[in-house]
Amino acid sequence: MSTSEHHDDGSNEPSSTERVLNFIETEIEKDRAKPTWGNRSLHTRFPPEPNGYLHIGHAKSICLNFGLAQRYGGKCNLRFDDTNPAKEEQEYVDSIMEDVRWLGFQWDGLYYASDYFDQLYLWAEQLIMAGKAFVCDLNAEEMRQYRGTLTEPGKNSPYRDRSVEENLKLFREMRDGKYPDGARTLRAKIDMSSPNLNLRDPVMYRILRAHHHRTGNKWLIYPMYDWAHGQSDSVEGITHSICTLEFENHRPLYDWFCVNLGIYHPRQMEFARLNLTYTVMSKRKLLQLVQEKHVQSWDDPRMPTISGLRRRGYTPESIRAFCEKIGVARFNSMIDVTVLENSIREHLNKIAPRVMAVLRPIKVVLTNYPDGQVEYLEAINNPEDPGAGSRKIPFSREFYIEEDDFREDAPSKYFRLKPGGEVRLRYAYIIKCEKVVKDPNTGAITELHCTYDPQTRSGSDTSNRKVKGTIHWVPATHALDAEVRVYDRLFSTEEPDAAEAGKTFLDYMNPKSLEVVHAKVEPCLTEAPAGARYQFERLGYFCVDVKDSKPGKPVFNRTVTLRDTWAKLEARGDS
Ligand code: ATP
Ligand code: MG
Repeated sequence: MSTSEHHDDGSNEPSSTERVLNFIETEIEKDRAKPTWGNRSLHTRFPPEPNGYLHIGHAKSICLNFGLAQRYGGKCNLRFDDTNPAKEEQEYVDSIMEDVRWLGFQWDGLYYASDYFDQLYLWAEQLIMAGKAFVCDLNAEEMRQYRGTLTEPGKNSPYRDRSVEENLKLFREMRDGKYPDGARTLRAKIDMSSPNLNLRDPVMYRILRAHHHRTGNKWLIYPMYDWAHGQSDSVEGITHSICTLEFENHRPLYDWFCVNLGIYHPRQMEFARLNLTYTVMSKRKLLQLVQEKHVQSWDDPRMPTISGLRRRGYTPESIRAFCEKIGVARFNSMIDVTVLENSIREHLNKIAPRVMAVLRPIKVVLTNYPDGQVEYLEAINNPEDPGAGSRKIPFSREFYIEEDDFREDAPSKYFRLKPGGEVRLRYAYIIKCEKVVKDPNTGAITELHCTYDPQTRSGSDTSNRKVKGTIHWVPATHALDAEVRVYDRLFSTEEPDAAEAGKTFLDYMNPKSLEVVHAKVEPCLTEAPAGARYQFERLGYFCVDVKDSKPGKPVFNRTVTLRDTWAKLEARGDS
């Protein structure tokens, strides 16, 4: 499915059961129809390297792999691809498990590539004995020179014709620590003139003295990704090993290892990775953002990590819906980040209770409202969800409105509050602005003095009067003060990865990606639980930050603005 086919609002989408099969499902159905398939069941895996936190791109792979297992009644493993000890940590392992579960999936088997280090070692000896692997003494630079290029064949290593006995002896000595890091490698003996560079005698093992998060100091040689991945799939009985397109060129090597070891041979298939506008997605860059403190942590709500999106207020349902919507294809493309934003809007519109909050307050005094009187006005919690009920909001003489909802020099089509103008207060009355009170020294507006029309109470309006604008408000005496973090996109350009010469993605960071405001919110939010999600009427969706909120003192994160309707109306000057 191409992205251009998608509707912004998700309407007219076929449900997941009736939608067209993607190309992977089509291939799987063909495989399952073959007589050789027998009564096997589908088995996929999600294989992250525990060298960082998962991001929204990984969510695509998770939804795909776990989703296929669900669809076809199969299994999906979680396997940590931990062959690179220098960069891997337990913290990442833990966060990955948490994120997969949070997305709503449960793995069948939980494995680590390091579970197979012994088996891989034995298989390496098997290839040596078959004359299909050799110990090479070329250093990295020499190896590069021998490899050739896309247009020129490579040259055989001078060590390629060592005897089986010598290779075995040297390989065992590599294992036993006889040589320094990098001194020797074990390479597969394939074809130095293959047009596919991955088949030009690829390295299988390197010598590396590094502490491994699971095997400790047991190993001084570590398998390369290509040597470990297919065989791990094979051991686990994976039927379809689904990876991203950059591994397409590695498939012949994946196949070569399985065939030459004579072991069970899974099918590798490739799909396009997710790229999102206004976002960087490689773990290396995300790590750099964290380490250089451009963001506060991996779960900073501006990060495209699963944990960042979670803290920002995204729901697992919205991320799964997003992955379903973007589909799976075999060509690389860029998905507009608004597709992701729309998927959380759509979900929160259904489930989030509505409340009123004023981010940048101006105080209003109703000069004709009886002093000391309090009315309790009925407000619907969620018009999309009749079961959500209603609540009472105290209304009295003083309240706050949004700075943006008042303009002293308003254009004629400005239908919010202006001197001498009228507006409806949501759930309450029509008010009229009588006087703008200013600080005599600074000239800044301190208060608005207004009058209200008692005939116009919402729900029992007997006046038959119409005004064009409705604005939200928060009662002054009962307001809760709350810190609100108004998040925006982390980058101010569509493709921060495509930096022009002399620049990096860091040069495109949005300086306004976080603005902290001190807001006034409805008193009912005092006990809002950590993680709870709300719609602040007319402003957007917000959630209670799970890390920095304290009992009775919630901190809110802006998840996303409302649908851009307000912005459009504002542009026309007639909100
Ligand atoms: P990164 O480049 O961000 O570090 P990676 O591919 O090295 O990503 P892995 O931990 O190796 O990260 O990825 C685990 C799985 O997730 C792999 O199967 C990989 O293909 C898939 N994956 C990673 N990034 C994306 C993406 N942007 N879109 C779809 N799948 C992805
Ligand atoms: Mg990787």
